[in-house]
Amino acid sequence: MLAIRGMNDILPENIRAWQHVEHHACALLGAYGYEEMRPPMVERTELFRRSIGEVTDIVEKEMYTFDDRNGESLTLRPECTASLVRAAIQHGLLRTPGRRVWTMGPMFRYERPQKGRYRQFHQIDVEIFGVGGPSAEAELILLSRRLWTALGISGLALELNSLGSRAIQARYRTRLVEYFSAHASMLDADSARRMETNPLRILDSKNPSMQALIEEAPRITDQHDAQARAHLDQLLAMLDEAGVAYRLNPRLVRGLDYYTGTVFEWTTSELGAQDAVCGGGRYDNLVSEIGGPACPAIGFAIGLERLVALLETQSVELPAAVPHAWLASNGDRASILAHAVAESLRDAVPELRLVVDAVPGSFKAKLKRADRSGARIALLIGDEEARSGTIAVKDLRARVPQSMVSIDDLAGHVARNVLTQ
Ligand code: AMP
Repeated sequence: MLAIRGMNDILPENIRAWQHVEHHACALLGAYGYEEMRPPMVERTELFRRSIGEVTDIVEKEMYTFDDRNGESLTLRPECTASLVRAAIQHGLLRTPGRRVWTMGPMFRYERPQKGRYRQFHQIDVEIFGVGGPSAEAELILLSRRLWTALGISGLALELNSLGSRAIQARYRTRLVEYFSAHASMLDADSARRMETNPLRILDSKNPSMQALIEEAPRITDQHDAQARAHLDQLLAMLDEAGVAYRLNPRLVRGLDYYTGTVFEWTTSELGAQDAVCGGGRYDNLVSEIGGPACPAIGFAIGLERLVALLETQSVELPAAVPHAWLASNGDRASILAHAVAESLRDAVPELRLVVDAVPGSFKAKLKRADRSGARIALLIGDEEARSGTIAVKDLRARVPQSMVSIDDLAGHVARNVLTQ
């Protein structure tokens, strides 16, 4: 039996990269005042339909939707903003303005699997509720920039756009319909349909034959009013002041309908077609649209598979967690003693990484495993040692004779010889 297509097993040899990302993200988000929360992976289908938008790739083609045993339509979350907003409303988190939250976990989209695009993938989602000004955008961008640095990743580029208010989007929609109607013969079937329902989404089309037409389309920035321009200008001033490089991209619309105002993406040129590592934006209407109070909000999502791929592409060195010591026993008395010795060592030296070899067999085979593990020393207990209360300590990395250490002195010996190296 194999795993489902597009859903990956993350194996022990890859887990260090994941833990590196998770560890730094958790520490950094905590340091900036963000609180972690963990909504469920399944929500009512209606939540995603209403928030992401009926006429989007995600809702039209990509959701894992099923009826539960009561006939209620549920969906595996394709993204997490909607769930966080639902939870924030439900639990009254929005009563404190400026609340910052984040979550991490798997998302599900029935897409065509390829490098960097999977059916189960993982995101870190970060949201700020109740801040309408561009300070929120600036903080999210600066926080993400700091995360790339902390992870040891370089070369990500920031793209920015502003989609403006719903009124601006409505005006833009009219311009787009005029433009695409004038070129109706060049539209593919998907785009022709979207002309009627959601013309902005035509700009998301990945169809190569549509790209020239999209490139010449009117720009949303031409529809901006004074407020939208001032908001964007202020954000750009904040980014300039903090030394953040960016590129304004009027074609950046993102694939979800809830965005209003600023949208942004961090992209890389090192991963091929799937070049977006992180994307987000402002969604000032979503909270009230799904039953909450009027509450400006903004967030972003980082794609962890792509970050992990970048760590590999850029050969970022990851801290290794090799054991310090490998304890092996041979013989009945010795194997009864082994765990007790290991536990008293762990009590005395809490930072010690110690593996007890549980595979039956000879010392020779155990020493081979100890060596392969990268451990500094092997601790060997035979029945003879068990009787005399001593342990044989073998240095696996230096050519020095094996020494016999009494069990009482073992913790001191290990601490001196292993942790200080
Ligand atoms: P989105 O939720 O579509 O705005 O995506 C945010 C980020 O999640 C993207 O920039 C990607 O890094 C990542 N992402 C989205 N979809 C996938 C997928 N199918 N497989 C892997 N990563 C994804």
